[in-house]
Amino acid sequence: MDSFGLYLMFFMLATRVMPSPNEGVDYPLGMLSCRIFQGETYRDLSCVIRKKVLMYPDSDTLYSASALGEAKEYITQCFRHDEFQPASHLGLASFIRIMNTISYYDPDEYLYQIECEFEQENELMIPVSAVLTVKDFLKLCYDFYLVDLVNGHDAFVALASIQAGMNAGADNEVCSRFVAKTKELPAVEMKLVYDPEKTTFNPIYRVTSFEAYMGLEYMRMLDQNVKFRRCQNPACGKFFVAQRTTAKYCDFPSPQNEQKTCKELYPQIVSREKMTRDILLKSIRGAQSRLYNVRRRHPEQYEEINKFLDEIEAQRESMSEKVVTGELTVTDFNRWLESLKIKKARNK
Ligand SMILES: [Zn+2]
Repeated sequence: MDSFGLYLMFFMLATRVMPSPNEGVDYPLGMLSCRIFQGETYRDLSCVIRKKVLMYPDSDTLYSASALGEAKEYITQCFRHDEFQPASHLGLASFIRIMNTISYYDPDEYLYQIECEFEQENELMIPVSAVLTVKDFLKLCYDFYLVDLVNGHDAFVALASIQAGMNAGADNEVCSRFVAKTKELPAVEMKLVYDPEKTTFNPIYRVTSFEAYMGLEYMRMLDQNVKFRRCQNPACGKFFVAQRTTAKYCDFPSPQNEQKTCKELYPQIVSREKMTRDILLKSIRGAQSRLYNVRRRHPEQYEEINKFLDEIEAQRESMSEKVVTGELTVTDFNRWLESLKIKKARNK
């Protein structure tokens, strides 16, 4: 590995992240994008990096190509905090690529070019101000870094929503823009690595852009017919990939209990919910048959008893829901049912 970037190889249903040519960590195809673009990691890649750029300590150092060594060292440190290494590698690679590009042209020249380009396409306009200090330069790089990150993220959300069958019109739009743009995506470089055991060549990709990464991963997913799904735990709803076509729940920590994944936890919640509903149903049937008996024995109370029966019908759904969500206990629910009876007049 001679330069910065996220190095990837693809094997059938796996994405291999390469820390070195001989060993790598495998992720199920598509899963890496779910990890990078959802939850804490995505937040860290945007908000945390922004904060760190704003905290750049040498705020008075004037911009010059020779002052960039320290700035690069600082940015490298900024990305080191994220626990999820592939994401921080890719983030750092995107940032450094942008630093290299802008400093190659010189910031003012670069902004001038970009300004013309954006004006022509009438697209996003990055506020142009003269870059004086190294910190200004880093802020400018962050703006472009964020564009890359957000574009990658939006493409991920659109593609995943479409595949999971829950897309809105906006997703189709983002998706077709992304597809049209893929041939121009920056920052994917391919090298061939010889595998002496299998006497074959394998492509290894160096990726330095979130958007380009998303294109690459998606291309492989299409090749292998792997699709994104959406977690059926209503509190979660994250995208994930699974080989089993019947998989409903993701492998991420569940919002209900961080110690357990949705896949471990949610089926338990569902079966507990079913048990609770069975108990409530039994109580309802008990209360109804109690009222039927009273009605039979006391025809004069017919009207009043019917009111209670109607109330049970009208309220049973919403009352049961309250027990399931924990707003009421089963005891509260039974007390409600027991209250539906003709009160005996006292001291008669
Ligand atoms: Zn989930």
